[in-house]
Amino acid sequence: MNRIQRFFTWLLGPGVERESREWAYECGQCGHRESVWDMGGIRYKAIGESSHRGRCPACGHVGKRWLRRSR
Ligand SMILES: [Zn+2]
Repeated sequence: MNRIQRFFTWLLGPGVERESREWAYECGQCGHRESVWDMGGIRYKAIGESSHRGRCPACGHVGKRWLRRSR
């Protein structure tokens, strides 16, 4: 947990971590998922999916990665 994550957990409670772990970047090539929390970020009370450009650590594919919530 980094300083930002610790701050928001302190501010908003443990739900921040739980919800941030449900959100993950998904590779459009191989489907590899990387949770927002594990990447050092937070995502809380968010709706909708979005796409970002990035590099997949699993297959090395550079391009669209979907930010999706898993259930
Ligand atoms: Zn990939």
